[in-house]
Order: sequence, then structure tokens, then C-alpha cells
Amino acid sequence: MIKAVVGANWGDEGKGKITDMLAEKADIIVRFQGGANAGHTIVNKYGKFALHTLPSGVFYDHTTSVIGNGVALNIPILFGEINSLIERGVPMPKIMISDRAQIVMPYHILFDQYEEERLAGKSFGSTKSGIAPFYSDKYAKIGFQVNELFDEDKLKEKVESVIVTKNVILEHLYHKPLLDADELLKTLHEYRDMVAPYVGDVSSFLCKANAEGKTILLEGQLGTLKDPDHGIYPMVTSSSTLAAFGAIGAGLPPYDIKQIVTVCKAYSSAVGAGAFVSEIFGDEADELRRRGGDGGEYGATTGRPRRMGWFDCVASKYGCRLQGTTDVAFTVIDVLGYLDEIPVCTAYEIDGEVTTDFPVTHKLEKAKPVIETLPGWKCDIRGIKKYEDLPENCRNYIEFIEKHIGFPITMVSNGPSRDDIIYR
Ligand code: GDP
Repeated sequence: MIKAVVGANWGDEGKGKITDMLAEKADIIVRFQGGANAGHTIVNKYGKFALHTLPSGVFYDHTTSVIGNGVALNIPILFGEINSLIERGVPMPKIMISDRAQIVMPYHILFDQYEEERLAGKSFGSTKSGIAPFYSDKYAKIGFQVNELFDEDKLKEKVESVIVTKNVILEHLYHKPLLDADELLKTLHEYRDMVAPYVGDVSSFLCKANAEGKTILLEGQLGTLKDPDHGIYPMVTSSSTLAAFGAIGAGLPPYDIKQIVTVCKAYSSAVGAGAFVSEIFGDEADELRRRGGDGGEYGATTGRPRRMGWFDCVASKYGCRLQGTTDVAFTVIDVLGYLDEIPVCTAYEIDGEVTTDFPVTHKLEKAKPVIETLPGWKCDIRGIKKYEDLPENCRNYIEFIEKHIGFPITMVSNGPSRDDIIYR
């Protein structure tokens, strides 16, 4: 059985927590896209962790953690993350790295920084993890797959050839120090020695495991609105954030993904630039940010304060549809317990017309939120285990949103821990 856990919105919906929770009954957890540019926050018996590259199921000793071919693999960050887990008492995880995954090169990170510097105020708000230069090179066919580390002659030749174009840009566009082939090769040899014990044919491993009846979780990073095709282009990430891409980024048949759990947070947050229709500001936003998530809404990778907003039914309906949602996991609802009234964005007004269809970016920039207000429940709902035991206004809020997004909310998360979950 293959399941995907993906985000409906801008990311930070709580996918890490839901994956960690579902991983209890899974055998294999796979990252299939993205890199170390976003993080998942996980709270469990070992403490609180921010993961960037490892899948969120890595804390169990019965699971295998897989880095699929679709990932932007930053080797030093991956191994730094493994070491930091072990230092805090987590057992050494079982890891498999796709021999077709491509490597984030040291120069990808430099180019990301230099480009942000060059664009200054007009930047895309990159986390400077090298992701955009990495995927550009992948599709320009000058990236390095993990398996290439093991063919020394070809590796040397390719490094020497790739460096030529990189150095022209470094010299003439960015006016920065040039790359040295020997130094780069030395770094790649270190990378090779680090990954060697873990490299394998992920697609064949996963297909075999699926045939044997194992449970496989595909863990998405970010959410629909950051997808390069269906998101708020160009304020998107560089790899597809959709469950469908799980088939490609892990090497699986698309029809084998049987369950798609789309994670939606009970309010909105976003990082980076781009249209955000239901955004709120000032004290109202500060209070939600401070109370939000588990210890406030600040980026797991960057520590940046997240932009805050009310729940957006238009974006979430669209986000769930593009994911191919079978189940919605509705998270962080406990945080809203302080509000007398809870505003919800139910439609957009664009040039005088009201719509519930999510528009293309230039129209999105003109959209104004149509807000409906629901009564709050004014109490702490953490610890509640049964849906019927939630306050009536809380159930009304959930059911109101379910009706507007049009997908079934089958899980309600009312706290950051694995067992803060209500199944409906
Ligand atoms: P991800 O990128 O989608 O995995 O989301 P993050 O982990 O970056 O952000 C979610 C934040 O909310 C983390 O700090 C989680 O610990 C926290 N969290 C997840 N689910 C809940 C919940 O139901 N209630 C509360 N209060 N916090 C939650």
C-alpha cells in the first residue's frame, strides 16, 4: 500500500507530524522531491527536531528512510542531520539513497546566494540552499547523479567541463572567486565515501516492497501553491510538490498511490514573497504567529517569521484538488481556541467578480478576500480524542471548511505530538 502525505497550501501545514504519526504503521518512508530548503518540525519521545532532508519516519526503528531520485540531495546536510539524531539518542536509521538522485553541488549554494545578492530587493526570497540552481542544472543536463561519483574517469572529465561555464558566470556576472576542478573533485570524493554504504536502486526496492504488501509513505515537501506548474509561479519552488510527482521522484507506478493525505492547517501561513490573499497584519497577525504551530510560526530552516492569514477555502480547495486528495488531515486547530470569532476566506473578489476558483498569478495579485466569520469555541481542545467531544463551534468550523473545500476531513490534529489526533 502506497500513501502520500502532501501539503495543500504554501507548506508548513504540519506534514511532518502527520508523516511521523502514520509512520508508526509504515515500513518505508520516502522523500521524493525538494531538498534541504524547507523543514519539518517533529515532536516525539526523543525531543523536538527540525528535519530538512531525512523523511519524518526516521525516528522509528522498524522503518527504512529513503531518499528518492527526485530529491535535491545535499550530502553534508544529510549526514549532519543523521549525526545530530544519533547524538540525541535516536537509533541509527536504516537509510537508502537512490543511485539516480542528483547532488546539490557546493557551487549551487554559492550561485543561489550570488543571484539573490544580484537581484537584491527583487529576489524570490530563496532560502539560499541551492535548490533553483540545482534543478536548473538537472534539466539542463549538467547535474551529477549519485552513481556518477563511482566512475572516476568520467567524473573528472565532467567536473572539468561543467566548471568552464560556471567560471564564466562567476567571473563576468557575479565577480566572485572561480571554481577549482581539483578542489571540487576532492569534495566529491568525500561525498562518495559518505554515501557509498547507502546507495541503491530505489525504484526496484520500492516496487518489490509494495508487491510484498509493505506500507510505503511518500512524504511531500511544501504544498500545492509552491508547485512550479500549478502554484503561484514564479514564487514557487523548483520541483513539483504534488503527490503525482511521488511516482516520478520515487520511481513508482502512479496507479499504485492509493491514498493521498493532504494536510491543511486550520489557518494560513506562508514564507517568502508572493500573493497571499487572506493575509493579516499587525497585532492580529502577531498574536496568531506567536500562538501558532508549536512555539510560534517561524521557519524551520531559516527562523524567518511566517506571514499569517485566515483559512483560505479557495486556495485549499484548489490545493486539495491538484493533489488528488483522498483524505484531508486538518491540523493545528487547537491554536484557534483563543479567538471569539474566526474569520474564514470563502471566496475571492477579482475585478468586481466573486469566484471560488483559484486564479493564475496576475489575477491572484488583484484578488480581495471575501470573509465569513464563525463563532470561536474559547477553550483548549488539546487532549480530546473523540470527534464528538470537540466543542460544537469547533465541529462547526471543521464542517464549514470541509463543505467549502469539498474533500473529506478524516483526521483532525489538535496538538503537535503523535497522539494528538482525532480520527473521524
Ligand atoms: P511541515 O513542513 O508541513 O511538516 O510543517 P512544519 O513542521 O514546518 O510546521 C508545523 C508546526 O506545527 C510544527 O511546529 C509542528 O510541531 C506543529 N504542529 C503540527 N500539528 C500541530 C497541531 O495539531 N497543533 C499544534 N499546536 N501544533 C502542531
